[in-house]
Amino acid sequence: MLIDSHCHIAGPEFVQDLEDVVDRARTAGLAGALVILAADDEPELKQAASVSARWDQVRFSIGIHPHAAGTFAPDPDEASRRVERAFEGQPLARAVGEIGLDYHYDFAPRDVQQLVFRSQIRLARRLRRPIVIHTREAEDDTFHILQEERAWDVGGVFHCFTGDREMAKRALDIGFYLSLAGIVTFSRAHELKEVARMAPIDRLLIETDSPFLAPVPHRGTRNEPAHVARVAEVVAELRGTTPEAIAAATGENFTRLFTP
Ligand SMILES: [Zn+2]
Ligand SMILES: [Zn+2]
Repeated sequence: MLIDSHCHIAGPEFVQDLEDVVDRARTAGLAGALVILAADDEPELKQAASVSARWDQVRFSIGIHPHAAGTFAPDPDEASRRVERAFEGQPLARAVGEIGLDYHYDFAPRDVQQLVFRSQIRLARRLRRPIVIHTREAEDDTFHILQEERAWDVGGVFHCFTGDREMAKRALDIGFYLSLAGIVTFSRAHELKEVARMAPIDRLLIETDSPFLAPVPHRGTRNEPAHVARVAEVVAELRGTTPEAIAAATGENFTRLFTP
């Protein structure tokens, strides 16, 4: 049961050929996907209906990305109200995200990113839904906030995990899952390959983050859910098992977190 646990196929990059993208995903053996929707992106929220009409096994995660947090500087809680409204309009919504902190790009002031992140964790707790975390160069603040907001009550996943073994342990210790993306296929990703080897199999997910981050040998092209098969292959190689076993385990983890 191969599943792409994080992709943005309701975005503008896929409007033209969504049907083909879904066909290729099915042909590659995918049983489903978690499609991320930005709560402040009306066209994407609307396009979600076309996605689920073509692929009924998808589930959605809705949030305000840290890049977009700046809009909510005057009223950070407005971010979670937007997410809540979008949730009410989307029967297949199963998680809050992606949410978090991005200090690499710093598109929004850090204090605003933090408030918007906190507000959405509180919403997730109210909705009793897991969270999908985006964190980049913000490890300590991320864990500090997860701790203060008692995020383990709902749990969730560190999407596109790129941290080291120590960070992986911190995430696992508070009950979170790690999701590996195409970066694990890059030859220079030594530390991440170590994480892929040591992480408990019942806490791993795999993803594409399409349209971003195409895995080797597709680097530089638009990524799509079918390529999650390549991530499964590489993780299987690293762990000395088969892609089928990785698909089965990560599929089971996905079901536990995000379905029915
Ligand atoms: Zn992200
Ligand atoms: Zn993403």
